[in-house]
Amino acid sequence: MSMVSALSASQWAMPTPAWAKPHRQIRNDEIVAMTESASGSCLCGTVRFEISGGFEKFFLCHCSLCRKGSGSAHAANLVLTTARLNWLSGQDCVRTYRVPESRHERNFCDQCGSALPGVHANGAFVVVPAGSVDSAIGIRPDAHICLASRAEWDADLQDVPGFAGLPG
Ligand SMILES: [Zn+2]
Ligand SMILES: [Zn+2]
Repeated sequence: MSMVSALSASQWAMPTPAWAKPHRQIRNDEIVAMTESASGSCLCGTVRFEISGGFEKFFLCHCSLCRKGSGSAHAANLVLTTARLNWLSGQDCVRTYRVPESRHERNFCDQCGSALPGVHANGAFVVVPAGSVDSAIGIRPDAHICLASRAEWDADLQDVPGFAGLPG
């Protein structure tokens, strides 16, 4: 039996990214990062969570699903493969929506709608919306991804005027 035929149809359709494979060798710098922890919450404060371990990847995804789900130009997602997600409160208010026939999932608070972390690919990795994190994140985004599907207004945004607070 070949490797391909050993996979189920759904696994073949939704390959786990190479950076999210479990049981890989952990680098020394990741062991240092694993001693870190972060905390986060939703807008209404019902849901609170803690991440034990460091963030590994940070992607700004401009795909149409992330734009729709976030209501913005892109999602800002932290990815962890070795860290642990612990719900501190409000876990029963966490809902998951999966876009049919895709692997796109969105976790959110059923009280306020805020984006929340979720476990993906049978526990292979955890995705944490950067905006849900209350503590320092400590890493810069690694990349903008799915730029081919970005919004038509999402270009040269560094040239748009900025204000420290609301415009006067
Ligand atoms: Zn909430
Ligand atoms: Zn996306």
